[in-house]
Amino acid sequence: MHSLAPFAAHPEQSKGRRVQEAPPSNRSEYQRDRDRIVHSNSFRRLEYKTQVFVNHEGDLFRTRLTHSLEVAQIGRAIARTLNVNEDLTEAISLAHDLGHTPFGHAGQDALNKCMEGYGGFEHNLQSLRLVDVLEEKYAEFDGLNLTFETREGILKHCSLTNAKKLGDIGQRFIQQQQPGLEAQVSNLADEIAYNNHDVDDGLRSGLIVLEQLEEISLFKEQHDIVKSLYPKLSVRRATHEIIRRMINLLISDLTENTKNNLQQLKPQNIADVRAQPKALVSFSENMQQRNLQLKQFLRNNLYSHYRVFRMTNKAKNIIQNLFDALMTDTRLLPHEYADKAKQMELHEGDPGKARAVADYIAGMTDRYAITEYKRLFDPTQLT
Ligand code: MG
Repeated sequence: MHSLAPFAAHPEQSKGRRVQEAPPSNRSEYQRDRDRIVHSNSFRRLEYKTQVFVNHEGDLFRTRLTHSLEVAQIGRAIARTLNVNEDLTEAISLAHDLGHTPFGHAGQDALNKCMEGYGGFEHNLQSLRLVDVLEEKYAEFDGLNLTFETREGILKHCSLTNAKKLGDIGQRFIQQQQPGLEAQVSNLADEIAYNNHDVDDGLRSGLIVLEQLEEISLFKEQHDIVKSLYPKLSVRRATHEIIRRMINLLISDLTENTKNNLQQLKPQNIADVRAQPKALVSFSENMQQRNLQLKQFLRNNLYSHYRVFRMTNKAKNIIQNLFDALMTDTRLLPHEYADKAKQMELHEGDPGKARAVADYIAGMTDRYAITEYKRLFDPTQLT
């Protein structure tokens, strides 16, 4: 068992939970957070939500659940090497995508557009809203009542307008401060995970091919090594060999560079980490550039592939139509949600009603959204 560095998040120094609770007896505060996240409804929904490929396109593509597990695995490996809190890194990583709508970024953009004039929709903020308010599991409080540090990590980005409404958790966006190192680790573990698994899923789908990736230095370098070591390897195995080597390289660079940053700036505790003008967890300048090249490649060749656009276009239509119909007449909502919408409308008017509809839609899995769309608009479907 390694000891935590002074600049790590120490559970006994946590800024605590919104509702005070007795300390856990056989696990740390951050392990308790992780356990609550794993047992939440929104965590299970991640299984049927996707990022690039819709759930029914194939069983081997990443879902938000397997993506979150990969982020947690990469995050924990980095946290361990840096002697920062592995449990907290895991909790943040497992929760980081909870607030995503169905159909990935297309879904979130569509819902944000629907919510224009009602306060907008941000998936990060929705993740926080789920763990703070929407999960209904405990007798004593709404939400999961997580520690400040986990909540701080979940809220990766936030507009200034929203930050001002969030109290202590929004402060860092106003003061332009950093979150703890565990949140910073989880953030880049997310990036390492999705860039690499999108290469894998992209190749599997046939939307991109190996030869195209030769123009990417990160990929080409590892491809050349694998080719010379194992010239007869099948394409599938070679792809996996290349990707696992890219992940390793990115993790090594990140930990090395971060160790240097820590040595130079010598933060003594988590308060010092938060007060830094820049994140301490970062890639080297060179790796940053190479990583960016990979990201741009994926943007130009995978995320904007016409078949992805066709899918995202359908997704946008589904979200938009669901929102319009439910907002126009909340009696179309299942009882429980209709009651909520009524309550929220009573307190906050139209923005309250819209928020209730957005909560309902954001919680949907891809397949639930498709089914609900059919139930509402296809006259031959049973309702
Ligand atoms: Mg993610």
